[in-house]
Amino acid sequence: MEKTLNHRIHPEAAVRLFGTGEGLSHERITLATDPESGLQAIVAIYSTRLGPAFGGCRYWTYPSDTDALSDALRLSQGMAYKNALAGLPFGGGKAVILRTPDQADRRQLFRAFGRLVESLGGSYITAEDVGTTVEDMRAVQSETRYVSGMPRDAGFGGNPSPWTAYGVFVGIEAAVQYRLDRKSLAGVSVAVQGLGSVGWELCRRLHDAGATLIVTDIDDARTRQAQQQFGARVVSPEAIAGVESDVFAPCALGAVVTPAVAEGCRFRIIAGGANNQLSSLAEGDTLQKRGIFYAPDFLINAGGIISCAREYLGGVEAAALMEEVSRIRERVFSLARRVEATGEPPARAAVKWAQEVLRGELALAADTTIR
Ligand code: NAD
Repeated sequence: MEKTLNHRIHPEAAVRLFGTGEGLSHERITLATDPESGLQAIVAIYSTRLGPAFGGCRYWTYPSDTDALSDALRLSQGMAYKNALAGLPFGGGKAVILRTPDQADRRQLFRAFGRLVESLGGSYITAEDVGTTVEDMRAVQSETRYVSGMPRDAGFGGNPSPWTAYGVFVGIEAAVQYRLDRKSLAGVSVAVQGLGSVGWELCRRLHDAGATLIVTDIDDARTRQAQQQFGARVVSPEAIAGVESDVFAPCALGAVVTPAVAEGCRFRIIAGGANNQLSSLAEGDTLQKRGIFYAPDFLINAGGIISCAREYLGGVEAAALMEEVSRIRERVFSLARRVEATGEPPARAAVKWAQEVLRGELALAADTTIR
């Protein structure tokens, strides 16, 4: 028998609560529960102006429901910016599933989430994010076709993280060329925070390119392995933002660039995979004043969503995908030109650029054209 979900849509309540005048005006926010599986989920759709809202599903323990909603709202806005600047025919959305102790059967949970996605009729397409796996997406797929991020029988698709790492890598290369006037990463020092799916693959590429690595993770096994495999210098999680290095690549948490970090850090570039790295745009202003180039997360960590989008649209050869992800390099240079022309800090310039694309004021530039 077909199962149903209790879901309530509260766009106006959300706008009342979160309409701060800073663009948190989402098209649609769905709160859903499924008592049988223990599902409690939020799907935030920021914009479908460019196409169905595409963005991953986070499975996380939140201190409160409000924190979960706030995360969904911020992340979905970031996805809209990311997809717009990546030249993808998709809007921005994000789902969060609140992790609770009574969710015993993971497959049942993600099937219930799949029914929620299906009930949205294709206005939201999901994929992996922090806390979710390829296996979870397979469970989602048993209930809906509006899902991506799985290896497909035809030989394409799969875990997006290596593509995210590749995009961040080319973003770092471009930032280093722009800010340090160096065409190679040989001898460039990079401090990497978080050695998970994205951070590890990024370290591998950086090491191959001759960069020297300073790493941290809360998991000692990972840092030990990075020491052995890449000759990385290991520091504690508390110390990473205080080290001196050419590049800082946050690949763990959001909001790591706090006012204190922005004021005191000894980096020349900040460019990493984590979403929402700045506590607020004001930290971007501080970095700019101090001559530190910040490559906005939603500009350079788009490799994974590009992979998921191409998979969803029917698949492409790995070489074509690599070429598409590597266009992040050109976008960093485009952003740098905007920064030079306007004097605006990169974070604000990138938000403005994305909003121009979202409002349809800007035809996608040559370097963001969909092929
Ligand atoms: P992950 O869970 O695989 O890895 C995160 C790593 O960070 C883990 O090794 C964890 O132990 C470590 N970590 C957690 N807290 C830490 C702390 N305080 N200090 C140091 N290390 C800490 O996640 P991931 O998929 O690699 O994603 C990393 C970040 O990149 C997230 O912010 C995610 O939203 C963002 N991102 C990921 C993708 C993707 O394709 N996976 C795409 C876009 C953005």
